[in-house]
Amino acid sequence: MFKWFGKVNFSPFTKVTGFADHLKDGRLMGSRCKKCGATSFPPRADCVECMHDEFEFFEVSGRATLHTYTKIATAPTGFEDMVPYIVGLADLRETGRIVAWIGDTIPEEEIRIGMEMQVVPRIFEETEEIKVYYTLEKPGTTWMKADSIH
Ligand SMILES: [Zn+2]
Repeated sequence: MFKWFGKVNFSPFTKVTGFADHLKDGRLMGSRCKKCGATSFPPRADCVECMHDEFEFFEVSGRATLHTYTKIATAPTGFEDMVPYIVGLADLRETGRIVAWIGDTIPEEEIRIGMEMQVVPRIFEETEEIKVYYTLEKPGTTWMKADSIH
């Protein structure tokens, strides 16, 4: 799944590969343990509560609250051409925490810790591959979503 996320691919396959497919459909999915019901975002194949290895995806709203943020001026390998950019850490309403770029709908001077945000799935098309990622945007921001979960 990681090839869909960015420029550096550390892992060719994981049990949560479907996560990227759902993102391509415009859906943010968390995981729910089939044994104890514990939820996670990002999805985890192995439950952090009971270590059970069967899970199901469930859709999260992407509504989030900004926990903290930072402006990146010196980028890691592969992202040098994108600086400066701002990365936010946000708490999702349903479960979990997300790290993502803060998008164009939120100017730097309007960023406040504790503000409400909307996680928006994105597809970044290049000539040879399609990458999925997500950004933190103003609440109410809309995006394309597939009609049904498959
Ligand atoms: Zn569990």
